[in-house]
Amino acid sequence: MAKKEKEALFKCPKCSCVGLEVVEINVTASSPIHVISEDGNFHYGKPNIEGGEVGYFGCEKCGFELKDEKGNQLTEHDEVVAWCRKNCKQE
Ligand SMILES: [Zn+2]
Repeated sequence: MAKKEKEALFKCPKCSCVGLEVVEINVTASSPIHVISEDGNFHYGKPNIEGGEVGYFGCEKCGFELKDEKGNQLTEHDEVVAWCRKNCKQE
């Protein structure tokens, strides 16, 4: 049986939130319009998101961005893992 990798824990250094998110850029989002009501309001269905690439990883609460020592935004999964292990308290 393969040894289970230890999870990498994220904790925002700015607001202490543990929610990590990825922000994608260059996405195309389309939403079906189910109803246009009498007063002109559009009622949308579930959006469909296509394409996209990683813009950056960051805190979902305050928008803190994960960056390397040179100040570049992290875009690779293994960079994020390394960042978490280095900058966040791992239990
Ligand atoms: Zn935060």
